[in-house]
Amino acid sequence: MAERTIAAIATPAGDGALGVIRISGEDAFSIADKVFFAFSGKKIIEHKPYTASYGEIKENGNRLDDAVALVFVAPHSYTGENTVEISVHGGSLMLRSVLRLILKNGAYLAEAGEFTKRAFLNGKTDLTKAESIMGLISARNDAELRLSRAAHNGKVSKKIAEMESVLVGINASIAAFSDYPDEDIEGLNYENFLSSLQNLSLELQKMLKEYDSGRILKEGIITSIVGKPNVGKSTLMNMLVGFDRSIVTDVAGTTRDIVEDTVTLGDITLHLADTAGIHNTDDTVESIGVKLAKERIDTSQLILAVFDSTEPLTNQDFELLEAVKEKNTIVILNKTDLADEINEDKLKGFNVVKISAKEGKGIEELAKAINECCIEANLNPDSAVLLGERQRACAERALDGVNSAIEALMMGATMDAVGICADDALAALLELTGKRVTNEVTDEIFRRFCVGK
Ligand code: GDP
Repeated sequence: MAERTIAAIATPAGDGALGVIRISGEDAFSIADKVFFAFSGKKIIEHKPYTASYGEIKENGNRLDDAVALVFVAPHSYTGENTVEISVHGGSLMLRSVLRLILKNGAYLAEAGEFTKRAFLNGKTDLTKAESIMGLISARNDAELRLSRAAHNGKVSKKIAEMESVLVGINASIAAFSDYPDEDIEGLNYENFLSSLQNLSLELQKMLKEYDSGRILKEGIITSIVGKPNVGKSTLMNMLVGFDRSIVTDVAGTTRDIVEDTVTLGDITLHLADTAGIHNTDDTVESIGVKLAKERIDTSQLILAVFDSTEPLTNQDFELLEAVKEKNTIVILNKTDLADEINEDKLKGFNVVKISAKEGKGIEELAKAINECCIEANLNPDSAVLLGERQRACAERALDGVNSAIEALMMGATMDAVGICADDALAALLELTGKRVTNEVTDEIFRRFCVGK
């Protein structure tokens, strides 16, 4: 048990109906007894754990507020320590005055993330679950919440634990194999090592891909709307954003710069840019926009290439298709309320969606296509998705280790050399879940949490 008893306000700053102050540590009960007085007359330790008791907060005999106390007895609490959660009226001044009283009576103000850090140090949670808590709190869309929930429920730890045990098995076999190379031990052979390592490599690669998709869900997709002047890019942007941001006129080339906005389509957030029409131009202002549009294509994660379905495809359209064909692209045939002059045979291999931006038709189909190409292609909804760059870096190190082990094995290196690489991979996975992690890394992780968590 950590030596200092800590306390902090656990609810957000600002006024609310209720506010909660948490006290955790060896002296949590005795400190709570100095500030909270149950109407039943019972001391904290006499309360039935996990039931609420009603009373009041008093300072030098003066009543500060009504309060409800919840008692958690170690090790069955969030932190694994004795914990008391006191609810009072949720005004920020009220909460601060009660917190001050608790600190005056012997508790220390908790540092950012200290409750969760204690939970980790007391073995109540591993790092993947602890880090998912930040996601649960800060999720900005349903998908992010779902991924954080899955990690919090232990999906990531379970997946990594499976990989760890495969590596432990491989390492043990390699040790046995290198100690007794001449013995014919069943199952211990080159082919089996190779296939186990190759499977592990594939699983780690999949996890890293899913991480990218998960990040896209979390952070949004950098998206460019491109196409010739007048095909309806600004109108599409407006349809997506839901209000008039770009200038819409009948004169070709009126979108001179890049207009940006962020929209949420179901689970997905798009960071949209309506770029200037990509075409050759002598107008200086416009040509700057065209240059920006070309640069933007290079850095986009998704291209919405818009075509006017009332006109057959021209050479310029084919040039655009050529420029975006290697990218993650959806071809949008716009103005389908008017006519359909485009020969779709020419668009083979592209993901095509028909819309009428002016009439707001086709947005669901577009959202579905975006979801399919950006998320579902790499992300099964039941996936255990790594959360955060720290976890990704550990998984990448594990993959490097596994791939080096495969390479060593194939090059005919000694089993000891193969074992060293596999050990590196194992160390990276143990760091990912926190089973083997330095104090510096732990401190850094929890510093990113909020106070009270
Ligand atoms: P941009 O230059 O590609 O940004 O094109 P705009 O969005 O400025 O649209 C050019 C013209 O096409 C405007 O007059 C729009 O009202 C019209 N337009 C855009 N989308 C549609 C559509 O789906 N149907 C019809 N009928 N007209 C459209």
